[in-house]
Amino acid sequence: MIISVASGKGGTGKTLIATSLAFSIGENVQLLDCDVEEPNSHIFIKPQNKKTETVAVMVPRVDESLCDYCGKCSEVCEFNCIVVAKQKVLIFDNLCHACGGCVLFCPKKAIREEKREIGKLETGDRDGIRLVTGILNVSEAMAIPVISAVKNKTDKNKTVIIDSSPGTSCPMVAAVKGSDYCLLVTESTPFGLYDLSLAFEVVKKIGLPAGLVINKYDSGFGELEEYCKKVGLPVLLKIPEERKIAEVYSRGENLVEVFPEYKSKFIELFERIRK
Ligand code: SF4
Ligand code: SF4
Repeated sequence: MIISVASGKGGTGKTLIATSLAFSIGENVQLLDCDVEEPNSHIFIKPQNKKTETVAVMVPRVDESLCDYCGKCSEVCEFNCIVVAKQKVLIFDNLCHACGGCVLFCPKKAIREEKREIGKLETGDRDGIRLVTGILNVSEAMAIPVISAVKNKTDKNKTVIIDSSPGTSCPMVAAVKGSDYCLLVTESTPFGLYDLSLAFEVVKKIGLPAGLVINKYDSGFGELEEYCKKVGLPVLLKIPEERKIAEVYSRGENLVEVFPEYKSKFIELFERIRK
């Protein structure tokens, strides 16, 4: 089973929930950290025996001795990554989606492709959990190839938990797509509610069953649960807003390790998702 953990809003505690779920299931679990711009599951998991591999994309390189500056490559590039000047072809690597279109359409066969590193994967283990972390290099714009590289490591013999990027744009969609269930995480604030409503719309459009964890739960903010009732989003777990939990989080410790009473709550959560 593949469970993605997503939140419309950053800072809701999505990673705390993903890692606590992984720790509670305890064995034969794979945690895929697809929040590649700011991956932090490793802080809670503390994996050992780490192995690293690079993630690269193919980008075009022009042999100007063959080029006649016809401009065809610039015309076909949907992403405006190639500019053909009078006697020069400029390529903006950071914008390139590595689609290969320019290579295909160059009438002079003047374009070849070259590998360009944009990030890396780190794999490590701890207590029955295999953590795969995607890390996008600083200043790179293309998160999707790194997310795809992480997801290519999916081991279907394990329970897979995906820690997605926050928000509702392409990286979030790429992370949650293909999972069996999406666990949304929010907090009891108007901002949390607004961003949750956007994330739930995306999840519905993708066609995934979904449930909600309310972190930093405050019973005084009733609008959140009213919304859930109205749209039919089941609330599976509430974690109260408590200083001792915030302190554990800020020290990079795991909730279920410090407060074992939460383990049974997360196992119950997992069973409800499975059903
Ligand atoms: S399409 Fe080929 S020949 Fe034409 S400008 Fe681009 S690289 Fe040069
Ligand atoms: S590979 Fe695709 S995105 Fe990259 S420069 Fe060529 S046409 Fe544009």
